[in-house]
Amino acid sequence: MQHFPIFLDLNARAVVLSGGGDAALAKLRLLLKTNANLTVFASLPAPEIENWAQVGKLTLIRRPVADGDISSATLFYAANETPAEDTRVAKLARNAGALVNIVDNLQDSDFITPAIVDRTPVTVAIGTEGTAPVLARSLKAELEARLPTSIGPLARIGKSARALAMKLPVGRARRDFWAEFFASTGPKAIAKGEAAVKPALNALLDRHLSRAARPGHVAFVGAGPGDPDLLTMKARRALDEADVVIHDRLISSEILDLSRREATIIVAGKQGFGPAMAQDDINALIVQHAGLGSQVVRLKSGDATVFGRLDEEIDACDAARISWNIVPGITAASASVAALGQSLTKRGRNSSVRFLTGHDTRGFADHDWAALARPGEVAAIYMGKKSARFVQGRLLMHGADRATPVSVIENASRADQRILDTTLASLPADLADAGFDGPALTFYGLAPRAAHALSQLQMETA
Ligand code: SAH
Repeated sequence: MQHFPIFLDLNARAVVLSGGGDAALAKLRLLLKTNANLTVFASLPAPEIENWAQVGKLTLIRRPVADGDISSATLFYAANETPAEDTRVAKLARNAGALVNIVDNLQDSDFITPAIVDRTPVTVAIGTEGTAPVLARSLKAELEARLPTSIGPLARIGKSARALAMKLPVGRARRDFWAEFFASTGPKAIAKGEAAVKPALNALLDRHLSRAARPGHVAFVGAGPGDPDLLTMKARRALDEADVVIHDRLISSEILDLSRREATIIVAGKQGFGPAMAQDDINALIVQHAGLGSQVVRLKSGDATVFGRLDEEIDACDAARISWNIVPGITAASASVAALGQSLTKRGRNSSVRFLTGHDTRGFADHDWAALARPGEVAAIYMGKKSARFVQGRLLMHGADRATPVSVIENASRADQRILDTTLASLPADLADAGFDGPALTFYGLAPRAAHALSQLQMETA
């Protein structure tokens, strides 16, 4: 981020602009929304500028900027549309200590003006560091359509009622009140006219004051395989409401960024064979926070019910009489099979599919290898990298075909997804060569569909 966005208080501050044409007009229309003391230097001012000067909205000086003209300006705009003149006046302004913007000259400017969605007092500023003005404009149009104009008056009325809302305890209770005001009570009331908003707000406040404080709760939320777009709406809502988020290491930062800024984020759990927080400690952590009245989101990769040690955490909640619910997520097998372009089940090939773990708490996990070794079987093997040779040995021992296709999908759904296309015979060696160090899922009995293998190749060479 080269340009840091801030909202500058321009009340009664001096802002000077040099120029009188279209570029000057565009900037002045924005600046006139503020209460800055505006001075314009222009030998040939556009009629609009003359009018604004006449009604006292700005001071017009009908000549070019000269040395000594700018003594205490906060901001200076060079909008002459002639590079030489812009350079000359920018230098004078900079010497006087003003921050300078040269219109359409990002490189020589100290600051740039963002695209603005104005719902005063709610203001959205959009910047692209000058790289994509077209994108900024389309984002602006999208936001303008999304933000009803009533949001401005609602925010103003909300501000005047801030003292009233102090009657609610800080934190969750107060947040719930404001969330409901802005999401439903406020918009509904304002549709009947601004006068209806205050009474509606008071009624809402009474309701919230009489409501018993919400007890703590734990949502076990599946965060999916990594791509934030694969989160469910319910998962997003849970993150939006959480006071505390306790997450596995596998959860990507893009997903954690969706939590509320005030939420406490705690990393728990293990990554591969790295350092682990003991399960008992995780259970205690969950119970401790929910016991204090927090809305806790226990965020687990994929689906919380698949190899997630979920039951131990549920038992801990039950023992502490803490309420909980499960929000399903997209498990790694679903994301991986999508990456292969295949189906989990297929008529005439496999009418069942197994989810196995290569590892359990006792070491390499044992399974019904004889059943799996039969032709056409499909299994998604979680945590299967270290156990690849063990799994291969068991399957071959039970008569599996050495040529059975095996695919290993690393970082499924993430930007760095990779697919290894191999066979049961070559699995351990090919896996070692591939050097996968991210989470990887092994699909026994499935090869990537040809078209997918091709697009994978393109991804790798891109
Ligand atoms: N609850 C999770 C699984 C947890 S076990 C789920 O439903 O997906 C952790 C294992 O999941 C990893 O060792 C790996 O085998 C698999 N895994 C998780 N995320 C993955 C991803 N993005 N790509 C491939 N495998 C993944």
